[in-house]
Amino acid sequence: MSNPEVHQCECPICQSEADHPDKQLHHQINLLMSRLNEQQRRWYAALEAQRYGRGGIRRVAQITGLDEKTIRRGREELAQELEGRPADRVRLPGAGRPPVEKNSPEWKRR
Ligand SMILES: [Zn+2]
Repeated sequence: MSNPEVHQCECPICQSEADHPDKQLHHQINLLMSRLNEQQRRWYAALEAQRYGRGGIRRVAQITGLDEKTIRRGREELAQELEGRPADRVRLPGAGRPPVEKNSPEWKRR
């Protein structure tokens, strides 16, 4: 299995030669993005944009190569609690049922 291609950030920091902690961060954002599906990518981008605050959407669009429109859509979907979005849940092996409650009704009876 070959690794999916990781987007190269095009922000001024990553374009410059100088060392900067953000370079690593931007790379890891794109690395994570490369393993997400389409809807997960825009939700994650929307969250990152929110963290940056003002101008965040433009900034994240530059880092990730996603459309600003796409990120805004992700933000709206998050704001609506992802209503109607497919859940696509994957359970990890070994993540069994939650433990039985201690004060089960049986114990209390009588
Ligand atoms: Zn960058």
